[in-house]
Amino acid sequence: MSLIPHYINGAESGSAERTGNVFNPATGEVQHQVAFATTAEVETAIAAAKAALPAWSATGLVKRADVFFKLRHLLLERQDELAAILTSEHGKVLSDAKGEISRGLENVEFAAGLVHLLKGERSEQVSRGVDVHSVKQPVGVVGAITPFNFPVMVPLWMTATAIACGNTVVLKPSEKDPSASVFLAKLFEEAGLPAGVLNVVHGDKVAVDAILDSPDVKAVSFVGSTPIARSIYQRATEQGKRVQALGGAKNHMVVMPDADLDSAADAAVSAAYGSAGERCMAVSVLVAVGDEVADALVEKVASRVGSLTIGDGTDAASEMGPLITREHRDKVASYVTGAAAEGATVVVDGTTQTFEGDGFFIGVSLVDHVTPGMKVYDDEIFGPVLSVVRVQTYAEAVELINANNFANGTAIFTRDGGTARQFEVDIEVGMVGVNVPIPVPIGAYSFGGWKNSLFGDSHIYGPESVHFYTRSKVVTTRWPDHTPSQINLGFPSNH
Ligand code: NAD
Repeated sequence: MSLIPHYINGAESGSAERTGNVFNPATGEVQHQVAFATTAEVETAIAAAKAALPAWSATGLVKRADVFFKLRHLLLERQDELAAILTSEHGKVLSDAKGEISRGLENVEFAAGLVHLLKGERSEQVSRGVDVHSVKQPVGVVGAITPFNFPVMVPLWMTATAIACGNTVVLKPSEKDPSASVFLAKLFEEAGLPAGVLNVVHGDKVAVDAILDSPDVKAVSFVGSTPIARSIYQRATEQGKRVQALGGAKNHMVVMPDADLDSAADAAVSAAYGSAGERCMAVSVLVAVGDEVADALVEKVASRVGSLTIGDGTDAASEMGPLITREHRDKVASYVTGAAAEGATVVVDGTTQTFEGDGFFIGVSLVDHVTPGMKVYDDEIFGPVLSVVRVQTYAEAVELINANNFANGTAIFTRDGGTARQFEVDIEVGMVGVNVPIPVPIGAYSFGGWKNSLFGDSHIYGPESVHFYTRSKVVTTRWPDHTPSQINLGFPSNH
């Protein structure tokens, strides 16, 4: 069985001292072992990134951009190969894997055009003969820690901008589907990135802690579940690092009585069950305003899910693949089986659907009459389970969402522009869709939630990530202009 190695300073490395299993979730078989880095191996990767920093940060902006233009081309050329890796280790269907790659490409395109955003400011003659200008300089070595659910896109959220800003990176992808990161690092180098600028180490808490505790790592980007995001934020900020740690989600989709209920039901099915619900922007709560809307939506969603094809992601007929692990599948199932005991109504029970073989499959579930306080509502399930919460008014819908501790994404479905606009004002959530169920911002904007969905000040990718991955410096300049100088012990004033 092959060992997925680390990729440090332009070469594969890694002992088999500590390893983990990488499954094919569609068959349930272990297909690879992945090396788990020791502290010393992570330190080697950080040292490689540190050594590569002076030359890379001094590389001209146009030359840096050139790497991203070439990377874009290579990613497009090799997307089938990369999508096949995603499907075999994550389980998502091939079309979804390609969708993920195309969203990751937006970050590469953004990085290719970054020169514009690295411009500083300049003010002439702030005092007689004195000018001021600001510059944006790289922060240094960046630690990037990513989740299992987007093995290409989330590493690109971080690496593209960090590298374009002149930083070097140590990436620690999810140990559950680690191959895509090594593939990406090799593609970066094929595109012209010097060895050591992007290093990949695999593993668990040991590897992550080595990144967080290294004084040579100056900034940490993390995406994953809320408890880990919180602990990473605390540990790394205590050591004076700059940190953005994106956490979990519980995304609500409000359906107003005036909405087109058929398109709302289509949107809810797509957004709740796409990628088996393993998206941080998946809709997991349908908030129906009024019982009439609720009854109609439940009936429409239930009638649509019967025809969904669930199967191996490599089969072109499959619309939804398996979950990432057997344990996760069983945990997702426990929320559905527990929901009835909590007083909810299980309208479609995906746990009873049977599948051939040992893959980590589960059917989709729809649970009605869910209320806050039930585990099925309070926890992030991260599987194909859609809860319906019934409210009577718009105000109740807003109150429900604003009381939730997660605040990643939300959406409203309505034909009324005034209601939509008010929702945009009232709602305390980082990303909002109006008749758009998964409002993931295009690469030129930044991505991020509020409250327990993000710890730190900067959203990820886009303009906010340029801010995150650079430090600004302000330079005040006076050149001899042949006027006589004099001593003045007063505080420098521009008046
Ligand atoms: P996870 O938190 O289990 O793992 C994320 C990363 O942290 C992995 O690299 C993992 O190896 C590492 N890790 C796990 N336990 C650790 C520990 N105790 N100490 C240090 N590092 C540890 O998340 P996951 O299951 O891989 O991904 C799913 C989660 O990610 C969901 O909660 C989902 O909502 C969230 N997510 C959020 C966003 C977002 O943008 N907000 C995007 C994608 C996924």
